[in-house]
Amino acid sequence: MINNSEPRPIEEMEIKSVIKNNNHRDILDNLFEGVYFTDINRRITFWNKGAEKITGYKKSQVLGKYCNGDFLIYLNKQGKTICETKSCPILKSITEKKLFETEAYILHKEGQRIPVLIRTFPIRDEKEKIIGAAGIFSNNSIRMSVHKKMEELSRLAMFDSITEIGTRKYIEINLFAILDEMRRYGWTFGVLLIDIDHFKKVNDTYGHDIGDKVLKMVAKTLSKNLRSFDIIGRWGGEEFIGIIVNINEDQLYSIAEKLRLLIEKSSLNIGGAKIQVTISTGAALAQLTDTVETLVKRVDKLMYNSKSSGRNRVSMKFGIE
Ligand code: GH3
Ligand code: MG
Ligand code: MG
Repeated sequence: MINNSEPRPIEEMEIKSVIKNNNHRDILDNLFEGVYFTDINRRITFWNKGAEKITGYKKSQVLGKYCNGDFLIYLNKQGKTICETKSCPILKSITEKKLFETEAYILHKEGQRIPVLIRTFPIRDEKEKIIGAAGIFSNNSIRMSVHKKMEELSRLAMFDSITEIGTRKYIEINLFAILDEMRRYGWTFGVLLIDIDHFKKVNDTYGHDIGDKVLKMVAKTLSKNLRSFDIIGRWGGEEFIGIIVNINEDQLYSIAEKLRLLIEKSSLNIGGAKIQVTISTGAALAQLTDTVETLVKRVDKLMYNSKSSGRNRVSMKFGIE
């Protein structure tokens, strides 16, 4: 158990209004993260759709039940049950009036153990009296497996030294793992294939070393502007692949467009010259029938669609967008 910080008043205020406001409940319901509220006795009073998806338990199956009852059953990293002990994060938030963050394993309805990162904090009424706690949890398996792989991959020198991001192998391994997770848990994700426009001209005009610096600038802009759980790697030459998790089509397009614009507005200043490049992107959501090959082939074709329709654009469908 990691006690990260003292209670954060802002979050608690937000939660207070959340409880009162049904619109906010709708927003909470539609988060990808699992969100639940309990009363002071740890009886569940709210359970969003994210929690249903991650745990397999429907709202109707858990409302009114005790979170330290016979379902969920958090295990800590040492494999010990924490729900029945003083280490229960919900109980700790209620009794110690603080925020807690912990990595744990919950029991899915189908029996499998799912790694989660859970944050809990107390809920107060208008008179500041604690009336329960809230838990927010997200599936930690992508992050954990990536973390494990990062260690292994860096040992195997799978990070690209020019751009300081993962290599093609790194992306292939992640795509394989995330496709598997999509099939098992139904989580959607999207892929972006990004190719720098007319990059040969940069090399021809400024030389290969400056070309390398431009590659690095693009890689940094891409990696710094993705969410922490998304993945980016160098697919080869001046091509990059982004894996964007927990996403729908509209959101994928917005992220691709944001990156396109940010690259367009980035510039490398060398001896008075301002070097700017643009990117052409192919973007697609993964389908249940996809393999790494079919998925990459699809975004590759879409990327070429962006090239043939004028460059510096994102294609999610064929034809000019
Ligand atoms: P398009 O808009 O059609 O993508 O044109 P392009 O010039 O970007 O594409 P092309 O495939 O003709 O050229 C890619 C260039 O990228 C050629 C190659 O020398 C350069 N390149 C590949 N890897 C590296 C690298 O590691 N460093 C540098 N500086 N250049 C590289
Ligand atoms: Mg290329
Ligand atoms: Mg290119």
